[in-house]
Amino acid sequence: MSHIVVLGAGPMGLAAAQRAVTLGHQVDLLEAGSEVGGMAAHFDFSGVSIERFYHFICKSDQPTFDLMKELGILDKMRWANTSMAYYTHGKVHKWGDPISLLRYPHLSPIEKLRTGWQMFLTTKARNFAAIEHLTSREWIERGSGKSVYAKLWKRLQELKFYELADEVSASWIATRIKRIGNSRKSIFQEQLGYIEGGSKALMDEIASDIQRKGGRIHLRAQAERVHIEDGHVTGVLAAGTNYPADAVISTIPVPLINDMIPDLPQDFRERYASIRNIGAICVLFKLRKSVTPHFWLNIVDDGMDIPGLIEFSNLRPVGSTIIYAPYYMPTTQPKWKWEDHQFIDQVKDYIKRINPSVTDDDVLDTKVARLRYAQPICEPHFLNRLPPVQTPIRGLQIADTCFYYPEDRGVAESIRLGRRMAEAVFMPHGL
Ligand SMILES: Cc1cc2nc3c(=O)[nH]c(=O)nc-3n(C[C@H](O)[C@H](O)[C@H](O)COP(=O)(O)OP(=O)(O)OC[C@H]3O[C@@H](n4cnc5c(N)ncnc54)[C@H](O)[C@@H]3O)c2cc1C
Repeated sequence: MSHIVVLGAGPMGLAAAQRAVTLGHQVDLLEAGSEVGGMAAHFDFSGVSIERFYHFICKSDQPTFDLMKELGILDKMRWANTSMAYYTHGKVHKWGDPISLLRYPHLSPIEKLRTGWQMFLTTKARNFAAIEHLTSREWIERGSGKSVYAKLWKRLQELKFYELADEVSASWIATRIKRIGNSRKSIFQEQLGYIEGGSKALMDEIASDIQRKGGRIHLRAQAERVHIEDGHVTGVLAAGTNYPADAVISTIPVPLINDMIPDLPQDFRERYASIRNIGAICVLFKLRKSVTPHFWLNIVDDGMDIPGLIEFSNLRPVGSTIIYAPYYMPTTQPKWKWEDHQFIDQVKDYIKRINPSVTDDDVLDTKVARLRYAQPICEPHFLNRLPPVQTPIRGLQIADTCFYYPEDRGVAESIRLGRRMAEAVFMPHGL
């Protein structure tokens, strides 16, 4: 039996620890925070246990379903008919199916044809190697036209990536479109999923399985140093305790790696340092009434500084209306320092403009969640920048959400990679 220490108890670390303990290893899982779940963790929103950051499931999220089946909780999976829309020129327009596209008033017939054809081909593509050299803007402009990029995409990209908007790769965005575009009951009906009880139900069940099988989970145990001797990992120092290890699997954001493991070779350090992340601030509203019937509302309006609103209760019913307003941005933006109330006031104003029947009296509660490393920026040929998961230090594997590029960060892909890392621990060449 070997001793494996896993760093980070988000979905990837939990999946790695669960797989390792199931394979018969001794496992210590170290988590800096006070609970498991990472980006998929919940908080209490005046009586509703809900994700700090909205989470939905797509039909292609097979690693999630496989793990839920293994844990005996696949019966908690739920599917709902959902829809998306654009708010632009002062009105909400349904989007995401052929009839909505035909009815959309702000594109010409040619623009509609090109947009529909590009999206259709994207959902059918086997992979996106042929567009790997392009940025998302170049790819959309070539497929749908410059005017379509300007009308539908530009503002969304700029509000998410700011000065990095023109650096995002085409295959990253195409992979996202394919995942969501194929989560449907029919060509006319999108279907997204959630877990009864939210993501927490899955995270808690993985944690329980680890503990049932003899693994140990240590909360508030921030890893500070990975010990290395003669080119082999020997242990981890976390919150004043040394955890001996034959192998270490790190799933914490890679921008934190260089401080924690100063002994890594210089070329690896440079590659970790070059991976950029933006932050996310999610503003949650609990309301007495619905804002729109849609789950996902893209916002293209020069007077509104958010890319959209997610009416989560249109996916998972929780008794009242729950809205998430995501602000993504490089943390160098002055707005990153805004106080919570500034974000709340701004979103309240936007909600009232989108649905003027909503008043201050309809607001039951608000909350703000912040995350420093929320979204890696993946430019064309991103894989060339990425170091291998298996480091030159024997027994040490390192990955985070950008290691499954071109897939966007997601629970299913983190589970897939976490399990593969556990299986590769003693493979001679690793992953
Ligand atoms: C706004 C938002 C919306 C999202 N929506 C969806 C969605 O709809 N569907 C979906 O599938 N996915 C979604 N995701 C992505 C999903 O949450 C992530 O892909 C997934 O949680 C990543 O898991 P992870 O374990 O790889 O990383 P993380 O969840 O980031 O876990 C890393 C863990 O490491 C811990 N850690 C950090 N430093 C240390 C240290 N020194 N020592 C020990 N522990 C440490 C952190 O506290 C954290 O718990 C969303 C994410 C965000 C931010």
